[in-house]
Amino acid sequence: MSLPGDRREGPSPVSCGGNEVLPADSSRSMTVAQMVASSQRLRLNPNKDHKPDSYEDLQVDFSPSIFSSLERYLPPSMLGVPRDDKVKFMREILVKYLPHGERNRVQKHRDYRKKIISNYQPLHKELYTLHPTTFFLPSFLKAISDNTEESFRSMMSEPSPGVFTFEMLQPRFCELLLAEVENFEKWVNETKFRIMRPNTMNKYGAVLDDFGLETMLDKLMEGFIRPMSKVFFPEVGGSTLDSHHGFVVEYGKDRDVDLGFHVDDSEVTLNVCLGKQFSGGELFFRGTRCDKHVNTGSQSEEIFDYSHVPGRAVLHRGRHRHGARATTSGHRINLLLWCRSSVFREMKKYQKDFSSWCGECFREKKERQRLSIAATKSELLRKEGESTA
Ligand SMILES: [Zn+2]
Repeated sequence: MSLPGDRREGPSPVSCGGNEVLPADSSRSMTVAQMVASSQRLRLNPNKDHKPDSYEDLQVDFSPSIFSSLERYLPPSMLGVPRDDKVKFMREILVKYLPHGERNRVQKHRDYRKKIISNYQPLHKELYTLHPTTFFLPSFLKAISDNTEESFRSMMSEPSPGVFTFEMLQPRFCELLLAEVENFEKWVNETKFRIMRPNTMNKYGAVLDDFGLETMLDKLMEGFIRPMSKVFFPEVGGSTLDSHHGFVVEYGKDRDVDLGFHVDDSEVTLNVCLGKQFSGGELFFRGTRCDKHVNTGSQSEEIFDYSHVPGRAVLHRGRHRHGARATTSGHRINLLLWCRSSVFREMKKYQKDFSSWCGECFREKKERQRLSIAATKSELLRKEGESTA
């Protein structure tokens, strides 16, 4: 699933509100799946002999593997129907297990995306399938294929703890993606289609997942970002990243100017500058914080400013507080991939101590340890004094 959903309170919630969603098609007749659904039930035990269809290529809101697994439970009469009908039937079941508000939102967003994808004509089709050698620089590819901490470190620098930067994208790829985004915006303007912006803080920019790039970005996360996150951010679910929100933001004249101090609705954020010519727009960092400590001060070693270079990526925890200074001339467009881990989010509900990644939790923990050591020491001294007296 990859929706701009937000279950987190904080300075930067993503929102799919604010923009109205176009109404879904009103011409509704009963589909095959619905007819079957009204008369059929799932099997109690899976049909182990049945080989399920592959759903990998579908742009659906549940994981393709869920559909393959669930297919073994379909009533026998449904096994032979077209795949699309099976999807509809299974989706209706899965949706019932989502909380009520969520269900509505998921359905609306699904209709919204469908409407865009069936009307928008892509400019560069080659962007929609991940092609490592034309997308990425050889140094980056080599490091990923070697897949060791040493290989990652050999092509990146860590100018401030938890902030990694490295050369990533081919200039040609940046050009093509910029042209695709421009083409999409042209289509939005011509058709007066009301699109949702990437988050509550950016008035400009576009959600790449909404116009067909979801599968490509999923592959980017799984094959390239997750291996690095597994090594550098294991304490925030780096090895279990399983969904993403992919978008571009635009800064400069007639666009957003700067971006306030915030945290991302992500476990790990990839931020790559695509171009074009610009000055200003530095990214500033102020340390990683948990929900409780998000508004606490920064230590001097947490203060770090970074200047964007086209093609170059920054990788950091979503909870690493940051903002963007004003882009003072030209236009700057960045690709953002917010990578999320459902496992981490579930676990986090039961935890209180985040000292493995929150700078303030860490500081408090150290302080508690210091006080406890001091107390033990003075107790020992007191006892020693008693025994010698
Ligand atoms: Zn904390």
